[in-house]
Amino acid sequence: MRISTTIFLKKKQMRPEILYPLFGSLTSIGGLGEKSAKLLQNLDCRLIKDLIFHLPSNMVDRRYSPKLADAIPGRVATLKVKVIEHIAPQKKSQPYKVIAADETEQIIISFFKAYPSTIQKNLPLNQWVAISGKLEKFNNSLQMSHPDYIVPAAQIDSIRTIEPVYPLTAGISNKMLRKWILQALARTPQLPEWIDENLLKEKKWLSFNQSLLNLHHPQYLADLDINSPERQRLAYDELLANQLTLAIARQKIKKQAGRSLKGNGLLRKKLMEILPFKLTEAQEKVLREIFADQASPYRMLRLLQGDVGCGKTIVAFFSMLNAIECGAQAAIMAPTEILAKQHQETIAPLCEELGITCALLTGKTKPKQRKEILAELEEGKINILIGTHALFQENVIFKDLAYAVIDEQHRFGVHQRLNFSNKGNKADILVMTATPIPRTLLLTAYGDMEYSKIDQVPEGRKPVSTLVMPIDKIHDVVSALSRKLQQGARAYWVCPLVEESEKIDLAAAEERYESLKKYFGDQVGLVHGKMKEAEKDAVMEKFKKGEISLLVATTVIEVGVNVPEATLMIIEHAERFGLAQLHQLRGRIKRGFQASTCILLYSHPLSETSRARLNIMKETEDGFRIAEEDLDLRGGGELLGTKQSGFNTFKLADLSVHKGLLLTASQDAKLFIAQDPDFTSPRGKALKNLLYLFERDEAVKTYNQ
Ligand code: ADP
Ligand code: MG
Repeated sequence: MRISTTIFLKKKQMRPEILYPLFGSLTSIGGLGEKSAKLLQNLDCRLIKDLIFHLPSNMVDRRYSPKLADAIPGRVATLKVKVIEHIAPQKKSQPYKVIAADETEQIIISFFKAYPSTIQKNLPLNQWVAISGKLEKFNNSLQMSHPDYIVPAAQIDSIRTIEPVYPLTAGISNKMLRKWILQALARTPQLPEWIDENLLKEKKWLSFNQSLLNLHHPQYLADLDINSPERQRLAYDELLANQLTLAIARQKIKKQAGRSLKGNGLLRKKLMEILPFKLTEAQEKVLREIFADQASPYRMLRLLQGDVGCGKTIVAFFSMLNAIECGAQAAIMAPTEILAKQHQETIAPLCEELGITCALLTGKTKPKQRKEILAELEEGKINILIGTHALFQENVIFKDLAYAVIDEQHRFGVHQRLNFSNKGNKADILVMTATPIPRTLLLTAYGDMEYSKIDQVPEGRKPVSTLVMPIDKIHDVVSALSRKLQQGARAYWVCPLVEESEKIDLAAAEERYESLKKYFGDQVGLVHGKMKEAEKDAVMEKFKKGEISLLVATTVIEVGVNVPEATLMIIEHAERFGLAQLHQLRGRIKRGFQASTCILLYSHPLSETSRARLNIMKETEDGFRIAEEDLDLRGGGELLGTKQSGFNTFKLADLSVHKGLLLTASQDAKLFIAQDPDFTSPRGKALKNLLYLFERDEAVKTYNQ
């Protein structure tokens, strides 16, 4: 099948010619060598185009140009002065001084650790010069140390300007960077407009080129604001590129032939009868959506969101039965062994009652058994395969896989998951996640992907009461814990997260483990990410069985451990966690029907934002609200921890500010793809430039795997 929209995006050499200058290497810029080019990578600048998107974060106004008698100390000024005298230092620790003056007053220009010869060359005796820098007053005399600029007086206007200040990295000065950026801007071709004319008018935005120029030549601080029209325009460009890419990918998936799964409903009916509970309305609604997708002749790719404990597994199972009623196979995979096993514990007994077969395949499956399972799978004797993500990458062959459920919990692998779709025979795919992803982020990561939401937990669940306390109260917490444990409770103690270093994580957890051991002795266990899988499982098993009642853990427990008896959780340094993560952690004690308590311990000093965030945890258990608030308070990049999240991070757009633009871009992209799928209209051609400019061609390639 030919899908023309993606073809131009696939070939590197097809990059529009007009963009060539922007994709030149940094070293092609005058005065920019290999060494600097390497340093610029720290600022995410690799090509000329990256320089033009490196925007100033501040500015210095050098237009203030008073006579010395009127000059106000503390301000940055550009002055025309005559050099009167050079005073070399007597001792090394003293500065080299140059006395200069205008018609009204005198000024001392001082240099520490500078070469006298350079100073003498730049500030020749009896010559008029222009200097620019910060004015100071020492011992009642006007001074300027190390002027930022010294030029011949005739050139004063070249420095009497507003100078943008850029984010820097060690070894690169603002002056150098500014020079290079100006060169990069000079090389930027006039690009034809890709934004819809009406939108442009409505927003009163300038052209791409003009917006860029203005941002690099700010007149007022307000010009640098994240909400200035120029900045908005560029943010929109970036978001539009993102949304177009996803719209293309989406269109491609939609065009793929799928199969229509419409079972006779017998297995599902029987399951309904043997389940000890009634499905919630939310579960029913989501199932209707999934069944409709399965029945359609197109390839299904749906995201199912639902908080921990809302009952996604049973929903997944119902939809798998639909595939089995059609005589095909289904699979469910989890991110970890523990989770895969947990799925099996739920599913296996139900399969037995329904008279169908399932098998668990993990890294621990013995070779002999593995061989058997693989053989039976290929013969079609196994109806449902349960396993870990990793397993499915290997040569597992199904007789006829029609439906795959990918349980990601909170882990995302947008690209990876699509890889899997090759395994099955046009298999429909359901991706499940327990992370409530705000609509905004869903859009940037999944585009217009279909999604269902279980926004209700089964009846009878008790709320978790959440307390926020300073760490100084730790002794009270330990005595309360002691009482609870005596009454037979089980508790988690989660140790601080230090993002940069797992080692520090570990040290903190081990230290806490040792100190709690003094109180609780053998009742305490420790799990952390550095432990071997088997060791981890062994400790978890003990906790599950109640052989230990207090589990000290790093965030490894976040990933879906099911111990319904655990009703207490203490989280140390809660202020260091993302809200979504706290929510996930807290979900661990929300599995049963008993009341439970979560104590968030924080350390001083606590910023306003941190306090607000912890209070949200106290106020609500609604994961969607928590995620949305987290986004507003911190911006998308930080949510869920950028690195793991798999969400696009933007260079120019900031989702906590430009949410509205994202929605517009999404609609714009959808409409455009519907009207001009081959990008042949004038706007289409302009949009091609946009996609290349933001390097979205790469993203599309990944989707095409
Ligand atoms: P999730 O995967 O969404 O975290 P699970 O599917 O593991 O949640 O469900 C959590 C628990 O709730 C399981 O023990 C499950 O059997 C139970 N459960 C699911 N749906 C219902 C329901 N409608 N009523 C009562 N209990 C339910
Ligand atoms: Mg589950």
